[in-house]
Amino acid sequence: MNLQKSFADETKGALYVVPTPIGNLEDITYRAVKILRSADLIAAEDTRNTKKLLNHFEISTHLISYHEHNKSSRENQLLERIDKGELIALVSDAGMPAISDPGYEIVQAAIERNQHVVVLPGANAALCGLVGSGLPTGEFYFYGFLPRKKKDKAEELNRLKRLHASLLFYESPYRIKDTLKAIQEQLGSRRVVIARELTKRFEEYVRGTIEELILWAEENEMRGEFVIIVEGQNEAMEDDEDTVWWDDLSIVEHVDHYIEEKGFSSKEAIKQVAIDRSIPKRDVYQNYHIK
Ligand code: SAM
Repeated sequence: MNLQKSFADETKGALYVVPTPIGNLEDITYRAVKILRSADLIAAEDTRNTKKLLNHFEISTHLISYHEHNKSSRENQLLERIDKGELIALVSDAGMPAISDPGYEIVQAAIERNQHVVVLPGANAALCGLVGSGLPTGEFYFYGFLPRKKKDKAEELNRLKRLHASLLFYESPYRIKDTLKAIQEQLGSRRVVIARELTKRFEEYVRGTIEELILWAEENEMRGEFVIIVEGQNEAMEDDEDTVWWDDLSIVEHVDHYIEEKGFSSKEAIKQVAIDRSIPKRDVYQNYHIK
């Protein structure tokens, strides 16, 4: 058990997790500015990026880098300073540290050392996008970035298919079209919302069916930062699942689908078809190779 009374001992050091704006600088909180000013050190994902933010708010606290590639070596150094009573503020490039950003490991390590971890509330793209999407907020599942490889992406989406919760993804403009198509293939027809450039001048929400959003993505230039919010599975979709998507395909067409559309090897495709159809792999193999 670990009991933390965050403000019981003012002399004890602490790790402060400080969210920063995801676009609009006015979204920083008074408290975040106060903590960044009074911290002994700010550990930042990208010091040059954070320097600009600090200059804007006239904060002169010393900066040190803490990112994906040096986080394990940096960790001890930072935690030792907290042990000596220092206050270290952790920031990422934008939004909440540790959410699709570095932070989780140092939070965990600080807790293991019985140090205090204080998290400030603030900007986060996923939550902002979810609330603006108009899709149900009662239950949601934050995924972050899907894998880049087609096959891995399909597998992950398939794993999420039966969740009733709204699904939240981050995506880059280069992969948004492919990801929307993968969502359509794996999750079927659903309501989807894209929240783009949140808090910035060109903020927009595109709300519609997956088919409409694919069309929109094909007809427009994809620029900026995106959150994709997908409606969770409902009872009507569960009923639809009884009719399988490969019903009208021959075994050969079914195997070819996995090879051509998902990038599977023929061996992987044959295995998947055997699983889908609940028939022996041998039967799929023979059928496929005598085509
Ligand atoms: N830690 C951040 C947070 O709390 O939201 C997320 C960091 S993650 C590395 C960056 C991704 O978040 C972007 O690729 C995009 O998918 C999403 N994102 C960040 N800012 C955004 C914005 N202003 N509008 C829409 N999506 C945004």
